[in-house]
Amino acid sequence: MTPSKNRRIVLAARPKGEPEESDFRLEEVEIPSPGEGQVLLRNLYLSLDPYMRGRMNAGPSYAAPVEVNGVMEGGTVSEVVESKSPLLSPGNVVLSYAGWQEWAVAPADTVRKLDPAAAPVSTALGVLGMPGMTAYTGLLNIGKPKEGETVVVAAAAGAVGSAVGQIARIKGCRAVGIAGGAGKCAYVRNELGFDACVDHRGAAFAEELQAACPNGVDVYFENVGGAVLKAVAPLLNNFARVPVCGLIAHYNATALPEGPDWTPVLMRLALTRRLTIRGFLVFDFEAQRGEFYRDMSAWFREGRIKHREDVVDGIENAVSAFQGLLLGRNFGKLLVRLGR
Ligand code: NDP
Repeated sequence: MTPSKNRRIVLAARPKGEPEESDFRLEEVEIPSPGEGQVLLRNLYLSLDPYMRGRMNAGPSYAAPVEVNGVMEGGTVSEVVESKSPLLSPGNVVLSYAGWQEWAVAPADTVRKLDPAAAPVSTALGVLGMPGMTAYTGLLNIGKPKEGETVVVAAAAGAVGSAVGQIARIKGCRAVGIAGGAGKCAYVRNELGFDACVDHRGAAFAEELQAACPNGVDVYFENVGGAVLKAVAPLLNNFARVPVCGLIAHYNATALPEGPDWTPVLMRLALTRRLTIRGFLVFDFEAQRGEFYRDMSAWFREGRIKHREDVVDGIENAVSAFQGLLLGRNFGKLLVRLGR
């Protein structure tokens, strides 16, 4: 039976530090009707991604914040239920940006039709979607890995990091992961095939990382910042490349960290070791979307790129799942499965 209401999560207040339950509100509203050129979507999967923490803050950034009382934004995989466009028919499954809700209306020309026979549709939000493309474009364009080099990546069991290390291996590099906990490290080594993985929560983290990188580090794909960056930086080789993809250790920060200012140390390393440290956003490389699909789909089909999903059921559990993402509680690409 088709439900009569749309359940959605809106931003109730801008979080200070770690997001709290009270910063969000679960609402029930009427299911919208599509206008000319639009489709009615029933969302099947919602992607939860670290960038969403930034959207909760006011102030200038590379994208506008979600308004207070606005529906939280997010990528979705959705089924077309009603179509008022010749582009799509009921039953089509599409990649959309419908946000934290069960139903939505969207212009048909803003969604992308998926082929459920080619790959599980949820992968369009992970390994064959935005996170996979982030790994592919950031590593290849900025990391420029060469055969025999050492590539280090943190959050290595996650959506982006897991792809970075596996692509590095495909390119003939030594891939060293950093992850939180023995279980994630075992997965990164044994299932994903990284050469080594070090637990950043372990007491001997810096020493173990050094031992895992006997020839130093040529590419550090930066996902986290914080203590992990401090441990990796001294190991960077001359002319090492550092694609700066994310700084998740700082996303909940309300002030600069305490302690001595470490900027001079990092800048001295940048100077003396002639480092390339370059930030990027995945949409900088939009022109390479075709190459990304071609290569990643082939590697995925051939079993050379593996992935793991962490699936939570129900829109009512999206907030706690998102809180966990910023604390490392997810194990793999975090998705919310919708639909009752
Ligand atoms: P993940 O699936 O990797 O989940 C986030 C992981 O970050 C957690 O599971 C945890 O892993 C790790 N983490 C959280 N806090 C810390 C901390 N204090 N220190 C070390 N690790 C921490 O997320 P994604 O793969 O989606 O994203 C990874 C990074 O890539 C994020 O920084 C994100 O913002 C960035 N990103 C950037 C894009 C761009 O265009 N530049 C696009 C997409 C993502 P563990 O338990 O192993 O520590």
